[in-house]
Amino acid sequence: MTNATGQREPARMSRSGAPAEGRTGPAAPPALDIPDAIAVGDLATMMRVTAIDVIKQLMRRGHMFTINEVIDFDLAADIAEDFGYDVLEPEEEVEDATSIVPTQEDEDPDSLRPRPPVVTILGHVDHGKTTLLDSIRETNVVAGEAGGITQHMGAYTVEQNGGAITFLDTPGHEAFTAMRARGARVTDIAVLVVAADDGLMPQTEEAIDHIRAAEVPMIVAINKVDKPGADPERVKRQLAERDLLVEDWGGDVISVPVSALRGEGVPDVLEHIGLVAEISELRANPERPAAGVVVEARVDRRRGNVATVLVQNGTLRVGDHLVVGRIRGRVKAMMNERGQRFEEAGPSTPAEILGIGGLPEAGDMFEVVPDDKAGRALAERREREEAARSGASLGDVYTRVESGDAKALNLIVKTDVQGSVDAVLSALYGLGTEKVRVNVIRSAAGGISENDVLLAVASDAIIIGFNTVAQAGARALAAQEGVEIRSYKIIYALIEDVDKALRGLLEPVFRDVLEGEATVRAVFPMGRTARIAGFYVGRGRIARDSGIRVLRDRHVLYEGAISSLKHFKNDVREVTNGNEGGLVLDGYNDFQEGDVLEAHRTEQVGVG
Ligand code: GDP
Repeated sequence: MTNATGQREPARMSRSGAPAEGRTGPAAPPALDIPDAIAVGDLATMMRVTAIDVIKQLMRRGHMFTINEVIDFDLAADIAEDFGYDVLEPEEEVEDATSIVPTQEDEDPDSLRPRPPVVTILGHVDHGKTTLLDSIRETNVVAGEAGGITQHMGAYTVEQNGGAITFLDTPGHEAFTAMRARGARVTDIAVLVVAADDGLMPQTEEAIDHIRAAEVPMIVAINKVDKPGADPERVKRQLAERDLLVEDWGGDVISVPVSALRGEGVPDVLEHIGLVAEISELRANPERPAAGVVVEARVDRRRGNVATVLVQNGTLRVGDHLVVGRIRGRVKAMMNERGQRFEEAGPSTPAEILGIGGLPEAGDMFEVVPDDKAGRALAERREREEAARSGASLGDVYTRVESGDAKALNLIVKTDVQGSVDAVLSALYGLGTEKVRVNVIRSAAGGISENDVLLAVASDAIIIGFNTVAQAGARALAAQEGVEIRSYKIIYALIEDVDKALRGLLEPVFRDVLEGEATVRAVFPMGRTARIAGFYVGRGRIARDSGIRVLRDRHVLYEGAISSLKHFKNDVREVTNGNEGGLVLDGYNDFQEGDVLEAHRTEQVGVG
């Protein structure tokens, strides 16, 4: 709606539908035009109140936000209405035909078009990944585009003999694996950089494991061939020892000698990427609503949440409603790696987008939805799915084999010394049944690291330690991601457990997991007999479905379920660390100030 002065006419309706004409007294304040996402401080300025007032009002509604945090339109509109403002309805885009097509996994083959490959560069530290990425970027900016790449964006596209190639500018397999761990299949082709003067190093080997586990084609760039100590033949020999036979040794692994520093051999790398891409027949349907993945995300002080996304299918357009991870948003603007705005991003195109209501994580999937309502439903569904997600455990191997979900039991094997790796492996490979085989995706001597856990998440694997322990960080990550780590001191016990798991003979083991701890700070009556315990969470969280233990002087007085959990006046699903809440327990009322409330739940932690 526009009026004579070209401004949008306020829709004089509150969002609850009540007409605002009935107001008495002085003229009602002008209706607010709230963007899809707004910082708490900016909303306060808009309403001419202090940020503290807005934060307080948010808290009354059960939300904790600081002045710089960004909230979405719906919440901002509710708050504005609490302050007596009318809110302009968000501008309705005319739906175009494609954005109401439901998401479909199976594309009609006729609608598929070739798309550029997405390439990740991996390798040991200092072997030249960054130099190679820089060299490619400098020499191959998209033809006809003025100005170089002005900013780091996490991904960029270059032109190669008329075709495009998209590079993920996140060297290192942490990023690669973190994305896979979140279920995103992003990379079409991996370039493994090996310095010719240094040869295969530990991170090279890890990278090889990751690439193999991801089942993506690999091109080996033998780098630094300009250096006096360079020995490309040694690299080829070392690769052969890991069953990677390069072409000039009669195998099928493409290897290219390169000097990333001088730019020599770089065009060859690009050409091989082009060839592999052609063979891989990469296709997508540009006509459907976009779906893809977050490459990286950050908060920009001026622009709010900024995410670099990679469109994997469909075409993303400015104005599209989307769900990123569990966050809703609407694309306000898209920028390329040169900082230029553009309107449409097709398959394999990276874009920096503005307009997301929160900060997503690398690896989060995004999907375009027809409208905000559909977005809300999808965000909620994703939340439920995430809650249900957990890693593999030896105990559910059999169930998964029986249901046809698993054909291989993926294992990561870490041992104390290299000698025992071979012993464990040969025993493990002897197991396996008609239905399932044992598949060791990594085996090495040493402690169980965070990297092992990431690989386990990415490939749905179980980690087996033999005479070795998990580092503290790895243990925490495994607990968080639901990855099972099993440690053994006797090889026989190890083999027996895996064997039992494959035959479905393991008994589940349950463990009581402490989720949080709170202290009772006040007790209020509720009705005639019941009591509400007002508490402060000092650690973890109290969830609506947690079991609660009431402790006084370290003695357990009662154990039972929550019948009501509140944060201020609202019923909530959880109250987290540092927040206050109130709860009512089923069948217990005798709280006293100072009582400790322990939240716990019973989890199946494995089998044995
Ligand atoms: P990354 O850790 O794998 O990203 O490695 P960098 O790209 O940062 O490179 C590490 C070092 O090796 C830097 O000092 C580079 O200048 C140097 N370097 C990279 N490629 C080459 C090359 O082809 N030849 C020579 N001589 N040095 C190189």
